[in-house]
Amino acid sequence: MTMVGFNISMYKKLVLTFSLLLVCSTVCGQWYKESFKVMGTQAHVEFWLAPEQSIQIARVLIEAVKDEMHRIDKEMSPYKVNSLLSVINRQASISPVKISPELFELLKVSSEVSKLSDGAFDITFASVGYKYDYRASKRPKKETIASALSSIDYSAVILDEKNLTVSFNQAAIKIDLGGIAKGFAVKQCLNILASNGVEHALVSAGGDTALIGDRLGRDWLVGIKHPRAEHKTAVQIPLNNEAISTSGDYERYFIEDGVRYHHIINPKTGDSARKVVSVSIIGKDATYVDALSTTVFVMGLSKGMALIDKLSGYEAIIIDNQQTMHFSKGLQQN
Ligand code: AMP
Ligand code: MG
Repeated sequence: MTMVGFNISMYKKLVLTFSLLLVCSTVCGQWYKESFKVMGTQAHVEFWLAPEQSIQIARVLIEAVKDEMHRIDKEMSPYKVNSLLSVINRQASISPVKISPELFELLKVSSEVSKLSDGAFDITFASVGYKYDYRASKRPKKETIASALSSIDYSAVILDEKNLTVSFNQAAIKIDLGGIAKGFAVKQCLNILASNGVEHALVSAGGDTALIGDRLGRDWLVGIKHPRAEHKTAVQIPLNNEAISTSGDYERYFIEDGVRYHHIINPKTGDSARKVVSVSIIGKDATYVDALSTTVFVMGLSKGMALIDKLSGYEAIIIDNQQTMHFSKGLQQN
């Protein structure tokens, strides 16, 4: 007896394929992957282990990656009242707050990118940014923004390298690391995998992806979301050994009277940045790549592209308001 649409020769083929897969997984090594939720977004880890490495090692590495992401979230989340970030926001305008070396480093990088971009990237955007509630479609009144705007000022964040402390020299300052923390997190996770001998890996959190090596002789293909079609990809970028970060106005937003209010704030106005709709930055360092995608989003096409073209080791793909895609010099074919 044979099943409908299924005959013995198909069965033999299936058995053969399955056996080949089994032999290959022991002789050729294996891919391992897992997706999970963290930092209010979807994260993913995928890596290849050589044949002599067991599934137990893979499990340990996956757990280490998940733990690291959750650890960083616990330290840097603005939504957790006991996170170090929340403590800073409550205390730093009263007295210096002792912080971890990694958070100190991240605040230093933030300040560096603020200076580089003339304040387009500014973690004190939160002084106004926290007055928006995208889920509830709520935004601050014009007068509220106007009175809080002077508290967006990265130079008011004082870092004391010797004592490893941060303080604010203004009372109403708030900071938020949403524009840089996911890049830092994927970089940390990649370091964990690399220091355990992994040679082919991808770690992502939301729009931030970091890669070790290639996909066994082929490039990884990282998709950039279509900014106006939720489940579509605008373009796939072949990459290896690099990081890519995408900032888009479709991640957290609401529309009121035809105007899109979204989570990337222009520090000069306290309003959402609306010069472009999507910015992807490619480069070696996932932390900088993340900060720069937010930065270029605020700066817009001409100023943002000019910044990337002058920085060595970074490339950009910008989708403008008319949904035209623009590439930095290093990505253009001659
Ligand atoms: P990303 O998706 O990496 O562009 O990050 C967006 C997040 O960056 C927002 O949800 C905010 O937490 C944060 N952010 C918004 N505007 C700015 C800004 N001008 N400078 C730094 N961080 C920002
Ligand atoms: Mg970013």
